Amino acid sequence: MSPTDSGDVGRLCLVLCTLYFVTQPDQRTKTKEPNTKMIYLDNNATTRVAPEVFDAMQPHLGTFFGNPSSAHTLGREMKQAIEHAREQVAELVGATDTSEIVFTSCGSESDNWAIRGVLATQPNKRHIVTTQVEHEAVRNVCRLLETQGHEVTWLGVDQNGELDLDELRSALRPDTALVSIMLANNETGVLFPIEEIGSIVRDKSEAVFHVDGVQAVSKIPIDLKSTPVDLFALSGHKLHAPQGIGALYIRQGVSLSPLIIGGAQEQGRRAGTSAVPNIVGLGAACRLAQKDNAHARIERLRNRLEDVILEKIPNARLNGIAARSKRLPNTSNISFQYVDGQNILMHLDAAGICVSTGSACHSTSHESSPTLHAMNVPFTAAQGSIRFSVGRYNTEEEIETTLSLLPGIVAKLAAMSPYRDELAALGAG
Ligand code: PLP
Repeated sequence: MSPTDSGDVGRLCLVLCTLYFVTQPDQRTKTKEPNTKMIYLDNNATTRVAPEVFDAMQPHLGTFFGNPSSAHTLGREMKQAIEHAREQVAELVGATDTSEIVFTSCGSESDNWAIRGVLATQPNKRHIVTTQVEHEAVRNVCRLLETQGHEVTWLGVDQNGELDLDELRSALRPDTALVSIMLANNETGVLFPIEEIGSIVRDKSEAVFHVDGVQAVSKIPIDLKSTPVDLFALSGHKLHAPQGIGALYIRQGVSLSPLIIGGAQEQGRRAGTSAVPNIVGLGAACRLAQKDNAHARIERLRNRLEDVILEKIPNARLNGIAARSKRLPNTSNISFQYVDGQNILMHLDAAGICVSTGSACHSTSHESSPTLHAMNVPFTAAQGSIRFSVGRYNTEEEIETTLSLLPGIVAKLAAMSPYRDELAALGAG
């Protein structure tokens, strides 16, 4: 081959390669297209950013920028936007004063900070009371603290997922620094009576009371000024704000050491340049939840879904207390006994329906969920558990579509189950 020939081949390759790339669909554009056909019943895992929230954030991702700590006009405008969002958050949770709201990066940070911040202010008190059914953001911190010389009392729950408050009373001690108990369980939606718990903590101890309120905010009314709670964690992405923003409510007068140390942002309590667009998004989401709360409609959809599943599918059983007033209005955790929950999830996914097996954090693990384990749910039921969590954008039609597909999927998987006799005894064989 002459030098000219090899040059021609090189040019031909270049042209062909260019043609190949020009004619290929742009992958980045492709992945940007929303999958609008999916039925999203996984709103306890995360929620879609509301259009109202997106609109509020957009200017802060473009022309309205600046460091809120800067003294110039742009900086001052950002500071104002943050303070407006703080008012919106304070209003939704019923804080007495906006200074009680401190922005963080997520619910996990708020929980970590609450626990570690309390312990750091009282180094002589090394006892913590919490429950066996907390989210990992609390449970795993307490587990780690146990290995570092702290003593943790892990309160159990009954088969309905409820606490025994006498157990709490007898757990409290003079050296109890902290009680950390969630308001709403992320897997079952079971609500803990935090007013009553807070009164017990105040009457029987000097401990600080932290509540993980991440799953509850926007789903049930919350009024912290009239609730004996010292600290309260929340997370934006559970209420149609973006991921990566949270807040910690710190009651006036409660002392908390900082977790993130640096600049004087957030009244010197949490360092780091403020995430203005996300903070504005969280404020807008709180405003949306307050002015247009969708509780009643969401509850109707959840009830319809739950009623029909429990009525039509013979091996279905509810996890968590049956009384609906004691659960979040959007959550149903249902076990399809003797059938694998992961398999149900995959079949529903293939049919365009998103659900979760227990907490999203367990999606790669086949261990039984600690919450269901603590509730004494048998392994063969826990493994078949599905969490349905309804949200603001679900429609009646979506619920009916789910109800039309689910019984067939469960029946198909039941037919392949090694537990045929047990299923036959339930009328599902
Ligand atoms: N606490 C509860 C009850 C949760 O459900 C979650 C998230 O699922 C968290 C804490 C952690 O929140 P984030 O995802 O914002 O870190």
